[in-house]
Amino acid sequence: MIDMEMTRGLLIKLKKSNRLFEMCDCGHYGGVSPNSVHGDRFEHGHGACSDCDCKQFTWIYFCDETGDELK
Ligand SMILES: [Zn+2]
Ligand SMILES: [Zn+2]
Repeated sequence: MIDMEMTRGLLIKLKKSNRLFEMCDCGHYGGVSPNSVHGDRFEHGHGACSDCDCKQFTWIYFCDETGDELK
């Protein structure tokens, strides 16, 4: 069972501590990730990837700094 309130709280906490990462379907970090390799088009970290030919960040999941999906 996923407690949505707890998950939301966790995400806010991770974002504030700069440890919230967002994974693109190209397999590289983007969005709010401190180490995002996606450009700032549309929104911060939502542009083209600089590590592959991905044209636009496509969110697949939130993860930690090792790339493990947050569940
Ligand atoms: Zn990408
Ligand atoms: Zn990429």
